[in-house]
Amino acid sequence: MLRYSTVSHGIIFKNCMKYLSIDPNTLQIARDMQKNALCFYSKFQVGAAIQTEENQIVGGCNIESASYGLTICAERVAIFSALAQGYKKITHIALVTDTGSFPCGACRQILYEFCKNAHITIFSNIDIKK
Ligand SMILES: [Zn+2]
Repeated sequence: MLRYSTVSHGIIFKNCMKYLSIDPNTLQIARDMQKNALCFYSKFQVGAAIQTEENQIVGGCNIESASYGLTICAERVAIFSALAQGYKKITHIALVTDTGSFPCGACRQILYEFCKNAHITIFSNIDIKK
């Protein structure tokens, strides 16, 4: 079962980090990966980082194609990269956008198939106001 946590930038580092089971380095790598996004069309930068059972961290960012259909999301880049490197069990996933968006349907399918029991932390770069 996939478990989600949502956090915003201001909250996570000030108050909530101790309550999350994700390694802060995983979140930081996801934030760093967001800057590498190749999103010429949508201008919507997404960064992701997965943490493996071996505590390895593998990052990814969204990469858009002019064909749109060949565009790949940050989560899938990170997951496929980890799988290609031989890691089999993914324990945590950090996903960073400016808005705290959740994974799309295609990514949810891949998360379901390859990241069973993983904890997903959705991270917003913009503080969520009450
Ligand atoms: Zn997606």
